[in-house]
Amino acid sequence: KKITIAIDGFSSTGKSTLAKQLAKHLGYVYVDSGAMYRAVTYFAMQNGCVGPDFFDKQTLINSLPFIKLHFEFNPDLGFAEMYLNGENVEAAIRTIEVSGYVSKIAEVSEVRAKLVEQQQEMGKDKGIVMDGRDIGTVVFPDAELKVFMTASPETRARRRYDELQAKGQEVSFEAVLKNVVERDHIDTHREDSPLVMADGAIEIDNSALTREEQFDAVLALVDQ
Ligand code: C5P
Repeated sequence: KKITIAIDGFSSTGKSTLAKQLAKHLGYVYVDSGAMYRAVTYFAMQNGCVGPDFFDKQTLINSLPFIKLHFEFNPDLGFAEMYLNGENVEAAIRTIEVSGYVSKIAEVSEVRAKLVEQQQEMGKDKGIVMDGRDIGTVVFPDAELKVFMTASPETRARRRYDELQAKGQEVSFEAVLKNVVERDHIDTHREDSPLVMADGAIEIDNSALTREEQFDAVLALVDQ
């Protein structure tokens, strides 16, 4: 019987790696909810709603009906890529600039309501692994399996830094660490759906585990 798997936690704790592995193994759909918040952020940047010293929240809220998001499976990559109004934005949403604004955008209740509704629709047939910040608490409070991933800020910043380096993005380790710590703070302190461990979630600190150990531990929980 197909179930719903919710994976929450701080940024760069390896949530998406684990979620992708699980989805592939189980033949489930994988949804990266963070990509949706990033795509809305990218839209806001492109349309003059947010910049280094301003945030025009109302214009963004008014624009929400014109933001159409969908995922499209890319067989070469083995996962679904994010599309914003028909355009593939998978690369555009992974920049340090988008990471810098995304938590601000994710604080807007109207943004959250829109994305949560779409996420619940995607999960209505079960057989889904979704990762994010509020999946076990808000999106799928009845998920059969909830995982909460943690790791130290330094471990996470190191990972994000290596990823950005691999993509050829010029950025210092200090800037990445600062972004990780700032996002943690905003994500855990916002009024609407702050990042907290869901009731019944199982915590996994992955600084201490290899990818394989982590995967095996979670898979054992699915099989129970
Ligand atoms: O997972 P990722 O780091 O790509 O998410 C980017 C940002 O989107 C997070 O820092 C958080 O502010 C926001 N987010 C959220 N709720 C989710 C997923 C992401 O608020 N379910």
